[in-house]
Order: sequence, then C-alpha cells, then structure tokens
Amino acid sequence: MTLLHVDAVDVHYGDFQALFTLSLSLEEGQTLAVIGANGAGKSTLMKTIAGLMVPSQGSVTFDGRDVTRLPSHRRVPLGIALTPEGRRIFPSLTVEENLMVGAHVKRKGPWNLEAVYEAFPLVADRRDRLGFNLSGGEQQAVAIGRALMSNPRVLLLDEVSLGLAPVVIEDIYAALPRIMEQGTTVLLVEQDVNHALKVASRVQCLLEGRTVLEGPADALTRDQIASAYFGI
Ligand code: ATP
Repeated sequence: MTLLHVDAVDVHYGDFQALFTLSLSLEEGQTLAVIGANGAGKSTLMKTIAGLMVPSQGSVTFDGRDVTRLPSHRRVPLGIALTPEGRRIFPSLTVEENLMVGAHVKRKGPWNLEAVYEAFPLVADRRDRLGFNLSGGEQQAVAIGRALMSNPRVLLLDEVSLGLAPVVIEDIYAALPRIMEQGTTVLLVEQDVNHALKVASRVQCLLEGRTVLEGPADALTRDQIASAYFGI
C-alpha cells in the first residue's frame, strides 16, 4: 500500500525555487533513501513532507489523505515524525526527559522507553545525562529515539551521519534494521551513498531540485549512482 505520495511539488524560498515538479512514493514498510549532493533539495523535500514548507504547486498525500496544507504539528498525530538535520535536543532536559517529549502524541505502537533503550544501548547508558552534556552522536541517537516515541508510521531521518565520527555512524546504522523490523516505514536522507545503500530497499537521487535517478537499491550500479549524484 502506498503510504506517502508526493506529487509533482514545486517548493520555493522566496523567489528561489528549490524543488521542481518533484514526486516521490513510499510503500508501507519500505525504506527509501533520498541521496544527492549539497543543495540538491533533500532537506527541503523532508520539510515539505513534515509540513514545515508548503509547496506552491503539487500535493502531499499521506495514507490517502491530502496533507499538503496541514501544519506540521497536525501531521505528527497522523504518524509523520521528522528527525531534523541538526538534531535539536533540549539541553536542559535529561535524555529520558527528551525521549518523553516525543511520547506526548500518544499514538499506539511498539515504541516506548524500553524499546528505544533496547535499540540504542548508547542512549540507555546515558538516560540520566543532560542534553547539554551529549556528544553529537549521542544527540543523534536521542533525536531518533524521540521521534520513535511518537510511534510514527513514517520516520523521516535527515542527514543521519552528518558531522559524526565513523564509529558512531556505525552504531546508529546498526539500530535501523530493528526500526524497520517493527514495521516503521523509513525515509532516509543521506549524502553518504554507501550508508544509504546498506539499509535502503529503494534509492532516489536528486540533483538541483529534480529527480535524476530512482530504482531498487540492488538494481542500480555504482556508476549510475555516481553519474546521477554529480550530474555527469
Ligand atoms: P544540504 O545537504 O546542504 O542541506 P540539501 O540537498 O538538503 O543539501 P536543501 O537544504 O534542501 O538541500 O537546499 C536546496 C536549495 O535551497 C539550496 O540551493 C539551498 O541553498 C536553498 N535553501 C535552503 N534553505 C534555504 C532558505 N532558508 N532560504 C533560501 N534558500 C534556501
């Protein structure tokens, strides 16, 4: 079943157009990686799905409902959760309190404190630590955990690995299969193609606000992806 459908959206920042008749479809239970270089429009697409940007043309449909103009706080209860680039952990709250912020939506589902701690042992070990005292990788794991606490039907992960040490990126990626096993649909934005290909079943590559390549992750060659990524 198609859970999310973005249909031919144009998205602008003032006079600047960031997305051009861009479409994307996500089946329930699927993991789709949106890849592309700096400025390709990946974060803009995520913000459009989460309700932080409103397209000037086109539509966003979630579970059969047109949500194009629905504000982001009304999309969360429907099951759309964004882990934004930059993470945005509350510095004066403990890890556990940060996670509980995500639970205020009270959607039913498999995710609670125990399940998050099991998926991210790193987070469990630091449950009493203040957000202020967390490393970048710890913040990223807490931000994903917080989004999961809302029991999303689709989890939007923006630039998971950006600025993190390789060993921490491995830890975070190690948790993703467990998230998918719970039936959570994942839309992953990455600059790092290798990480994206490890977990995604489909890949969509953006260049300057347009889709230049898409297909099953195991059917695309490295050369095809590299050419699309760099616009060669
Ligand atoms: P990055 O990995 O660098 O964030 P991206 O693929 O996520 O890249 P976007 O952040 O979506 O790209 O940016 C797409 C285009 O929109 C870029 O040209 C960028 O400069 C522009 N842009 C992004 N945010 C704004 C903004 N707030 N105001 C004006 N232009 C913006």
